[in-house]
Amino acid sequence: MTLTDPAHTLAALIRCPSVTPDEGGALTTLSAMLVDLGFTNERVTFSDSDTPDVDNLYSRLGTDGPHLMFAGHTDVVPVGDAGAWTQDPFAAQIIDGEMYGRGAVDMKGGIACFVSALARLMTRRGAPAGSVSLLITGDEEGPGINGTEKLLAHAAAKGERWDAALVGEPTNPEQLGDMIKIGRRGSLSGVLTVEGVQGHVAYPHLADNPLRGILTLAKALMQPPLDAGNERFPPSNLEVTAIDTGNPSSNVIPARATARFNIRFNDIWTAESLTAELHARLEHAAKENGLREGREPVRYSVTLSERPSPSFVTRDTALIETLSAAVLEATGRSLTLSTTGGTSDARFIKNYCPVVEFGLVGKTMHMVDERVALTDLEGLTAIYEVFLERWFDSAKAG
Ligand SMILES: [Zn+2]
Repeated sequence: MTLTDPAHTLAALIRCPSVTPDEGGALTTLSAMLVDLGFTNERVTFSDSDTPDVDNLYSRLGTDGPHLMFAGHTDVVPVGDAGAWTQDPFAAQIIDGEMYGRGAVDMKGGIACFVSALARLMTRRGAPAGSVSLLITGDEEGPGINGTEKLLAHAAAKGERWDAALVGEPTNPEQLGDMIKIGRRGSLSGVLTVEGVQGHVAYPHLADNPLRGILTLAKALMQPPLDAGNERFPPSNLEVTAIDTGNPSSNVIPARATARFNIRFNDIWTAESLTAELHARLEHAAKENGLREGREPVRYSVTLSERPSPSFVTRDTALIETLSAAVLEATGRSLTLSTTGGTSDARFIKNYCPVVEFGLVGKTMHMVDERVALTDLEGLTAIYEVFLERWFDSAKAG
């Protein structure tokens, strides 16, 4: 049975050029493997305005509880500078013990290890006492509109319920066994606009330079710090990413200035409480600081992103401990529980069941010559196999 070999499984997936939004044969290849293991597949294509249609896969083995979900994506980012690759990005070449290919670690590799772990467990002990499902999207690296969020809602509407989920994104910074992600910071972006009065730089009393106001307001957003963090999260952080007037000239005072910013926030805040804090800071600073001494308050407006990502942390200690114990058993390493990094599809899954993230080493993801050590493929397969066995054993005992 070749499915027990993660390198074989991964090579087949890498050879499907599934750059978002193209399915590239990846979901079809994966579906066929899952059928061999006894899964029932459902392919779902989602559409929306102004974004490409995307194929997704929901596949389930078993009908009873407990029910474990493995979530991930088969789409990959573009090759980038094709001439800089030393190997064909869709050939799955093995050089010096490493397999090269786009998606090798992000995250066809994680999917291949999970399929192989399950195949090994089933060879050894038969099907798990419960259900396993794979929720695999083709829209994680792209707009993310026709992907995980819709697929979860689609499956839930058909009565699917899950007890826990594992996301196979690459979570280890350096070595297999470094890090499990047990939550993520939230993300909120905004655009701040300050209105001034355009004029000649030689006659500033007739004008109002909006840059004075925008600097004052931007500083008020940054200071004081939003919080000091807590035991699960680093401090929330606001970065101003651009300040602009669109003014190419050095003798014209511009009429208007805009500033863009993004906040990565921890679970001390919700998007709502953070929004209220931002408004309070801006209102206060605008009153205190006219564009000029003796002038009116700063005239400003602020637009915040309509769909901020919430912060979350998984409180299912049994799930975290089962995965930590599997990593320790398979690698001998004690890992860090982390909430760092960007957002991931776990932010949608957490609305349905507890979720943790653990996959390969992320060092080469999205880079030229993305590649994975064959020893890491073996290592992650071993970890997933122990995790599967223990999770079903403890869920049954509980
Ligand atoms: Zn990914």
